Amino acid sequence: MEDPTRCSVIIVGAGISGITAAKVLADNGVEDVVILEAEDRIGGRIRKEQFGGVTVELGAGWIAGVGGKQSNPVWELARQFNLRTCFSDYSNARYNIYDRSGKIFPSGVAADSYQKAVNSAIQNLQNQNQLDADADASQFQTPAAPKTPIELAIDFILHDFEMAEVEPISTYVEFGEREFMVADERGYELLLYKMAETFLSTLDGQISDHRLKLNKNWKTKAMIKCEIMVYTKVFLKFPNKFWPCGPGKEFFIFAHETRGYYTFWQHMENAYPGSNILVVTLTNGESKRIEAQSDEETMKEAMDVLRSMFGDDIPDATHILVPRWWNNRFQCGSYSNYPIYANANHQLIRDIKAPVGPIFFTGEHTSEDFSGYVHGGYLSGLDTSNAILQEIRRNQGTMF
Ligand SMILES: Cc1cc2nc3c(=O)[nH]c(=O)nc-3n(C[C@H](O)[C@H](O)[C@H](O)COP(=O)(O)OP(=O)(O)OC[C@H]3O[C@@H](n4cnc5c(N)ncnc54)[C@H](O)[C@@H]3O)c2cc1C
Repeated sequence: MEDPTRCSVIIVGAGISGITAAKVLADNGVEDVVILEAEDRIGGRIRKEQFGGVTVELGAGWIAGVGGKQSNPVWELARQFNLRTCFSDYSNARYNIYDRSGKIFPSGVAADSYQKAVNSAIQNLQNQNQLDADADASQFQTPAAPKTPIELAIDFILHDFEMAEVEPISTYVEFGEREFMVADERGYELLLYKMAETFLSTLDGQISDHRLKLNKNWKTKAMIKCEIMVYTKVFLKFPNKFWPCGPGKEFFIFAHETRGYYTFWQHMENAYPGSNILVVTLTNGESKRIEAQSDEETMKEAMDVLRSMFGDDIPDATHILVPRWWNNRFQCGSYSNYPIYANANHQLIRDIKAPVGPIFFTGEHTSEDFSGYVHGGYLSGLDTSNAILQEIRRNQGTMF
């Protein structure tokens, strides 16, 4: 049995949001904070692993929203702690779309399909807004559903990734349209460790402070259900490169008649030259499907896809890494996924965030504008700790 610990504030979860909240409280003199974390490490959905000789990020991998009118606070942290990053130019992906016989679609065809998908998305958005305003649905134009492999691939990219062109996504509007991939051997989690070190004691580079309690599953069920997207990066290591490299080749797309089937690919040569690693991203149904099968089966499927793009002579992958965010009982997915257009969801987020008595809720899913991102988690940690500080000051001497 552990000694019961008296404390002013208990924070459940040591992700970016919990660590940020604890730091703000400590900076404001509330030092008797206890952080209960279910797992044996801090970081939550920021998690690195060694793979194929380099550090790969199983969870958040990008600082999304850089170069705009306001500075992304996570970008500021990355600069402060010299986190190594490299610019990701997603715009090239749409010109690297392979069909099943390994041919690249001509850029005109790709651009037309892309424009068609954007127009459909805008039409759907307008229809949804009119529905919200109780307009007569029989008057709406319904865009044709995507059918061909290239249309399905582009529809998947537009809707299952954050591509910024279709919706005014706050992250890109506020912080800028650029994205930087973390390419640092110390991992994205460096930011959390650096913040934690400012208020928690460490021994030999490990956090040794009694106020951080790992392996504590304190709250067994999520109190409120919100939709969680599953987003899986599958890493494949090869003995040598067989894919095109150089400018405009980092991202490429596989067009298949099953929507989302091994669609979105990236090589890691820009981040780690010579690593010979490819990453393919699967989402939702496809993520759940591959989480349920063996890694060998996933490797075989991925190799079949690569052979249809690059020919039968390519070498087999030597290693595969398949994160299982869906089956992680403390995550149950990758990040919250509120449809942007539905006004009702703003109320849903406010309800999720609303405190119940002395219990406050934080995390990326409580961030109205930036849910789903690291900076959403960071900013929610700031907001919640400030709300707690106000509460503490209001009740000073009576509540605790
Ligand atoms: C595959 C993937 C890719 C992503 N890519 C990006 C990206 O490129 N850029 C970006 O900005 N964002 C990305 N995200 C989202 C980003 O990782 C999250 O928005 C952010 O890290 C969430 O931080 P948080 O503190 O809100 O939650 P978390 O990091 O989930 O922290 C919550 C903590 O609470 C713990 N916990 C849960 N239940 C209990 C319990 N009952 N008792 C005790 N502890 C508990 C968990 O173990 C966890 O450590 C990605 C996420 C994933 C999974």
